Amino acid sequence: MRQFTRAGAGGTMLAADNIVRTGEDQHKEPGDMATAQRIDGKAKAAQMSAEISLQTEALRKEHGLQPGLAVVIIGEDPASQVYVRNKKRTAEACGFYSEQHTLAEDAAEEDVLKLINDLNTDDAIHGILVQLPLPDHLDEQKITQAVVPNKDVDGFHFVNIGKLTSGNTSDAFVPCTPAGCMLMIKDHLGTDLSGLNAVVIGRSNIVGKPMASLLLQANATVTVTHSRTKDLAAVVREGDIVVAAVGRANMVKGDWIKPGAVVIDVGINRVEVTVDGETKSRLTGDVDYAEACESAAAVTPVPGGVGPMTIVMLMANTLRAARFAAGLEA
Ligand code: NAD
Repeated sequence: MRQFTRAGAGGTMLAADNIVRTGEDQHKEPGDMATAQRIDGKAKAAQMSAEISLQTEALRKEHGLQPGLAVVIIGEDPASQVYVRNKKRTAEACGFYSEQHTLAEDAAEEDVLKLINDLNTDDAIHGILVQLPLPDHLDEQKITQAVVPNKDVDGFHFVNIGKLTSGNTSDAFVPCTPAGCMLMIKDHLGTDLSGLNAVVIGRSNIVGKPMASLLLQANATVTVTHSRTKDLAAVVREGDIVVAAVGRANMVKGDWIKPGAVVIDVGINRVEVTVDGETKSRLTGDVDYAEACESAAAVTPVPGGVGPMTIVMLMANTLRAARFAAGLEA
């Protein structure tokens, strides 16, 4: 496995990027790295899911407790239906109790809020997820803030956001997508990112901003870029770590990537491709994967990278919520 470690850990220091390489990269110069490691989020998520199942079984045997996840979906958005189905399936595979509440596209706000209030006080439910985006007539902030912080397994409540940004994560729920990205980054670079430059592309509340907080907490030097950033390519080129969360297919080109960088592609974009004269639709990320592999040390694929990790982090948060509810250490 390609790995960067800090100075003093036995690798060779590359003066230009202040990174130490070990293992198979030790004798390579940055420009020599023609093929990056594919970061297999799907395999990691499957492994984590198996561990969560074991812990769930132990919780049931030792404390008679089954984690419960409620998923609320409003409307008919096809992508949301797929995400919700996958979340429910994974929850059941982990041994959780799970329930899905499907409301009509034109559901009244007061009915959504009443459902959330009922779930807030339901002892069988430890985690509540409201699938976004919501239909336009619903106030997203009002609805996400209605979930009590100790069941907010998506980490969108202001209490959880405040704990994350102030560095008090011991009893906070961190948003699932950046939490999953962070695990993959730490697998490659270790838990202390001191001296590394991290560039986050996108400043949304669910990905970009919490991602920046997590990277900062791990001592990276963090730059958050967005649609108003000047000369984005030049800024991205400074990144030892690049996290792209934009929603624009293949926007990040290979020559934007610093040699040896770790690249995490959060984007999910549906594009049309022609195969044997037939038009098909397929998913692609925000990063041009083939090009990025020419200079990066490691890149997440789309699909099979961040997506499965997001779902498993939801399970990890729900298990944690159940343990908190039972007064057990998380
Ligand atoms: P968003 O639309 O809320 O935010 C997009 C961000 O990109 C904004 O901050 C905007 O300033 C920035 N941006 C837009 N155009 C830009 C440009 N030309 N240059 C630089 N920055 C630009 O999106 P989001 O909810 O953060 O999601 C981003 C992407 O990640 C989407 O493709 C979404 O589907 C995907 N996503 C994937 C997962 C997962 O589990 N894999 C989870 C959440 C989101």
